[in-house]
Amino acid sequence: MGFEISIHQSGRVLGYTKRMGNKDVRVEDRTGEVHAVSLRGACSCGQPSCDHRTRVDRADHPDRGAVFEAKSGLHKELRRGDAARAKGYAQTIEAGRPGAVRLYLRRIVTEETRSLALLDRVESASDQRWPELVDAFCGVVKDWELPWTVNFWTPTWIQALASMGAWPPPLPSDAEDVLVHPTADPKATLRLVVWCDIGTPDRTKAVAIRLAEVLAGVARDRLPMAAQALHRASTWMAEDELSLLYEVAFSLWTEQADHIRLIPDEPTLDVPWSRPYVFDCHTWQGMRRLGLAGMPLAFEEPMPEGLDLRLSGAEAGTLWRYLAMDQYGQIDVAWESVRVAPRLRSASERLVRAVWQDWKGIPPDAV
Ligand SMILES: [Zn+2]
Repeated sequence: MGFEISIHQSGRVLGYTKRMGNKDVRVEDRTGEVHAVSLRGACSCGQPSCDHRTRVDRADHPDRGAVFEAKSGLHKELRRGDAARAKGYAQTIEAGRPGAVRLYLRRIVTEETRSLALLDRVESASDQRWPELVDAFCGVVKDWELPWTVNFWTPTWIQALASMGAWPPPLPSDAEDVLVHPTADPKATLRLVVWCDIGTPDRTKAVAIRLAEVLAGVARDRLPMAAQALHRASTWMAEDELSLLYEVAFSLWTEQADHIRLIPDEPTLDVPWSRPYVFDCHTWQGMRRLGLAGMPLAFEEPMPEGLDLRLSGAEAGTLWRYLAMDQYGQIDVAWESVRVAPRLRSASERLVRAVWQDWKGIPPDAV
């Protein structure tokens, strides 16, 4: 790995560039055209002054805002399965803090997929193997491409949530029975899993730990070959892990989830152009856009100008992907073309409002 000083043609030192080998840096612009910026600071666009170089500098020395944007961009491209762009965003995150990409992937591994193979791979790889981990993420079947499951914010999940009534709901009265015989009543167990996810941590932690233990025990009996991955899932204790354990325990998990498609070896798009879907409530620019939209978005109505939350991790976006996949077999359709069943409507409208609450919860000086 070499360090070089990149010098803008005007003579301004852009800073130290830490990149593999001596390759040009590929920068995408708004039109999709890709420019090559050399490590010496020359750009293939031929302009005496251009913002391609500035964007390379920002990617190599990201401030907090750039890291937020790169994390959001990486997550969206993992969802889309675009490895070239995903690795570009990952580079920026890695430039901000070495080792951060693998940590990030470790945190989200069960969020996009039910893949136990991927869970093992992320856990056992070293930090430096992040490019192949990103490839594997892009090549794996996504949650919403699998038959409907009970993952966070699937229709099944929303219905379980809606059936709980009060917000936040009290601990289900049959919680003790579930913890002793988790497979006796699938609905009661699902209700408890949902309760563990939506409650405040101190209200739910002890129950969640116990539930993870008992579900992992049942799941390991069902899938002895995956005992290690299931044990890992049971100790991570995030919401998606509980739902993964539930799926395996109730034989809803499918081996299709473990299939990892080989990604063709294409060059990384080092500095991708951030598409509108990158800007959601996890980025400052996205929060501004949500604020400017000035009205809550709704299902089955066109998205306000400048917003595209179809790939968002916000609850409404997650539910939308499951519905789009079920209705169209893909998620590349217009937001408003996806229909929400009446039985889901009140719960899903609460989710849509939650997107707004997300950005409103951010201190104004951060926006
Ligand atoms: Zn240029």
